[in-house]
Amino acid sequence: MKLFNKIKQITHLMKQVDFDELGKISEKIDLAKIVKSVGELDDNQLNGLMKMLTEKAKKGQHKLPPIDGDFYEYDLKLSQEHRAIQMKVRNFMETEVEPIANEYWNKAEFPMHIIPKLAKLNICGVAYEGYDCPALPFVMEGIIAEEIARVDVSISTFFGVHSGLAMGSIYLCGSEDQKQEWLPKMQRMEAIGAFGLTEPNVGSAVAGGMETTCVKVGDEWVLNGQKKWIGNATFADVIIIWAREVESNQAKGFLVRKGNSGFKTEKIENKMALRTVQNALITLTDCKIPESDRLQKANSFKDTAKVLRMTRAGVAWQALGCARGAYESALKYTKKREQFGKPIAKFQLIQNHLVEMLANVTAMKSLVYRLSELQDQGLLTDEHASLAKVFCSMRTRDVVSRAREVMGGNGILLEYDVARFVADAEAIYSYEGTKEINSLIVGRAITGYSAFV
Ligand SMILES: Cc1cc2nc3c(=O)[nH]c(=O)nc-3n(C[C@H](O)[C@H](O)[C@H](O)COP(=O)(O)OP(=O)(O)OC[C@H]3O[C@@H](n4cnc5c(N)ncnc54)[C@H](O)[C@@H]3O)c2cc1C
Repeated sequence: MKLFNKIKQITHLMKQVDFDELGKISEKIDLAKIVKSVGELDDNQLNGLMKMLTEKAKKGQHKLPPIDGDFYEYDLKLSQEHRAIQMKVRNFMETEVEPIANEYWNKAEFPMHIIPKLAKLNICGVAYEGYDCPALPFVMEGIIAEEIARVDVSISTFFGVHSGLAMGSIYLCGSEDQKQEWLPKMQRMEAIGAFGLTEPNVGSAVAGGMETTCVKVGDEWVLNGQKKWIGNATFADVIIIWAREVESNQAKGFLVRKGNSGFKTEKIENKMALRTVQNALITLTDCKIPESDRLQKANSFKDTAKVLRMTRAGVAWQALGCARGAYESALKYTKKREQFGKPIAKFQLIQNHLVEMLANVTAMKSLVYRLSELQDQGLLTDEHASLAKVFCSMRTRDVVSRAREVMGGNGILLEYDVARFVADAEAIYSYEGTKEINSLIVGRAITGYSAFV
């Protein structure tokens, strides 16, 4: 009977053995010798050995740390109320957007159905005062941009154009009547905005070289020209159009309403980045705008630049979000993906990539956090915002390319998310002032010499 029980026990144990693993182990140690030695142990010695092995196995099963790109615990700086807003946005992005992000990116369409849900988060014009806006610190505007971009840079661009560039133009350059008319409904996303500054022939040189003109005829303005790359323009209710007044040679801003017969949009096809964003080529042909729809406080490009200063800070946060999303996806992947019989996260060269990614993400976070603190204190300058845009867009490119690298072939497949971040980082690098133009802004500030031309 004793022998029968022993055989039963051994059969049971054998069922649990992973013979592939055993094969690999036997290449490294003399298994036969070990089995022979164990067989010679008495019951007490066997029990002791079992206890020792069980304790060792328990210690080996260490819990893996959570995936979190906030390494220096910046979240601890947020109040409970602000942290709740951050988590509300994160939850929305992870549950409503993440599952559909690749599909819409792939078919180059915008998921219009998310707009009412996004509106419910109450995060549009989040740092503006009055006009039903929440008047939160600019740091929160940044956190929101980061959270949205961490999941989908396209949605973050859509949001940045609407809430930053379009609402911001009205907030900073509109009359009281214009603010009252547009900002509350834009805050609720009942009206969506776009911002048209760049042109087919004039991008970086737009400050002094705009070709789109405006001429005042009686009580109306007549606009002619083209605008290129204008996000949201295919479906926006109001498009801010910047044009050069022929008489004064100064930039003016206009609220162009959807349906204006002098205004035509064509969707830009075949983008390899931000495919979900609907960018348009706009053609203005004798487009008539009443004086009441001219932004009353936009009298020169200096006023346009005020808007760009504010939104450029947001783009730096967006770059951080893009990098963080790629880093977190890559980290998760390296813990699961096994090569040579172990998770690739156990390889030194992979850990080196992960640490360089994290260092960049953490440096970016520190920089943009301080940037927004300056903004909250009313101390933000063009060069502050430009430095952050330069640094973050460069570092993001580095992070996403490492994220793609540690994922091997899967790094170029959309379904693994990182490929989308790699492509979208390219758009961040170029829009709201290229790396060169923002470098020239900082260069001018620190040397005292303008090197634009
Ligand atoms: C996806 C996307 C969305 C966009 N959304 C909008 C939008 O909603 N509204 C809007 O108005 N615009 C938008 N833009 C336009 C964007 O702001 C411009 O692409 C950007 O300002 C650069 O202009 P450009 O593409 O004409 O490049 P160019 O100005 O032609 O520049 C080409 C290259 O020359 C370099 N360069 C130019 N001048 C100098 C110089 N003096 N010294 C050194 N190098 C120089 C540039 O840095 C760049 O590398 C968007 C662009 C993209 C790609």
